[in-house]
Amino acid sequence: MSPRIAVVGAGIGGLTLGIALQRAGVTVDLYERADELREVGAAVALSANGTRELYRLGVGDALDRVSTQPTELVYRDGRTGERIAAHPGGADYRARFGAPYWGIHRVDLQQTLAGAVDRAHLHLGRTVTGVVDDGDGATITLHDGTTVTADVVVGADGVHSVVRDHVCGPGNGPVYSGTSAFRGLVERSDLPSLPDPLAIQFWAGPDAHLLHYPMGGAARGDDTINFFAVLRGPEQWGDTQHRGEHADRGAGARDAGHLGNLEVPAGELLAAFAGWHPAVREMLAAVDQSPRWPLLSQPPLIRWTRGRVVLIGDACHAMLPHHGQGANQSIEDAVVLAHLLTSADPDTALDAYPRRRRARTRAVARSAWETGTLLHLPDDDVDGLKVRDARFESYLDANAWVHEYTATTTEEVA
Ligand SMILES: Cc1cc2nc3c(=O)[nH]c(=O)nc-3n(C[C@H](O)[C@H](O)[C@H](O)COP(=O)(O)OP(=O)(O)OC[C@H]3O[C@@H](n4cnc5c(N)ncnc54)[C@H](O)[C@@H]3O)c2cc1C
Repeated sequence: MSPRIAVVGAGIGGLTLGIALQRAGVTVDLYERADELREVGAAVALSANGTRELYRLGVGDALDRVSTQPTELVYRDGRTGERIAAHPGGADYRARFGAPYWGIHRVDLQQTLAGAVDRAHLHLGRTVTGVVDDGDGATITLHDGTTVTADVVVGADGVHSVVRDHVCGPGNGPVYSGTSAFRGLVERSDLPSLPDPLAIQFWAGPDAHLLHYPMGGAARGDDTINFFAVLRGPEQWGDTQHRGEHADRGAGARDAGHLGNLEVPAGELLAAFAGWHPAVREMLAAVDQSPRWPLLSQPPLIRWTRGRVVLIGDACHAMLPHHGQGANQSIEDAVVLAHLLTSADPDTALDAYPRRRRARTRAVARSAWETGTLLHLPDDDVDGLKVRDARFESYLDANAWVHEYTATTTEEVA
């Protein structure tokens, strides 16, 4: 008899897991605190290691219709606009890695995934407040006090996971990285100075960078550009001191708890990019300044499972966004866990799962951290800038291991 699975959180990882398990005939219920699946104004870029799995799950064509494939990946000097390096996107990327690279509205992604899940098993407006192990199962408690028991409970509840508190104990969540970000959506017609508007582009400079990519696909006209502007600092977020690469939780490292965004004075973002290329400033000025977000990063967790409770996605390994890999890694986790749960008994599956995922997710997270450092080098670091430019030039070859990865496997579990 197949196990009954309860998933906490219907974000990218939870929904992907729901689809994969339902397609394998497993009973899976998803409990999501939001009343409806929508996040206004946010985008996500998905690479071949994620999109190949979405095709395999049967949602690829629907997602392709609402996605834009960037024409190139371009690195530029943030002040002069000089193209430091460029790599093929679009059909060339797809041919090389066997699946596309997409820029997509997060709401389109979530709604397409949700549309592929049996609606009767997707419970919106249901916040999970607690989890308990029952030995041969686990029980979740919902905000109204009702309980649900399943053979396996999956914590797919994101960066501020309550399920992680059960698996690892409180105080083991992500830490503030010492960098923060603003984001926005801009119409292409508002950006007359922008070269290569259909490319995904990084503009690098001292203590800051700007990333943008097109999104929306044929359905929305490829006319929207999503940007993400990252700044070094502030040193502290609330009372939380930042860490360098936090891998060890040294003195001063603190769980970032539920630190949220900050409203900051209008003009702060533009002031931080004074002297940058006109296309950069035009983009930042085209929309009202967003709140400032703390960028968080999860130190490696010793435990990914406790009894019949298991973590996936940001609940387990939230990472800096500089590789655009958080959602892709959640998708990989979901398809691997679904494969294990449908190939072995729950205890064997949960034992195998961290061994399948730990090294991969750690390597991607570390690489994202290193990329962030390279993007913010000061002008007087002449040797560092040479290394940076060489890394930008070799980026796609050096990081092919991220994109060519195939998470689904027919290998035996044990
Ligand atoms: C600015 C920014 C840009 C990013 N860009 C990219 C990108 O381009 N590409 C990429 O791959 N990744 C990107 N990421 C990372 C990506 O968004 C996350 O890694 C990804 O969403 C994680 O998926 P998840 O399913 O683990 O969590 P989420 O997608 O965050 O989903 C968690 C879900 O759990 C629900 N939930 C939380 N608590 C409870 C509870 N107690 N009870 C019930 N439900 C609950 C939430 O409402 C949410 O729906 C970016 C992140 C940031 C911050």
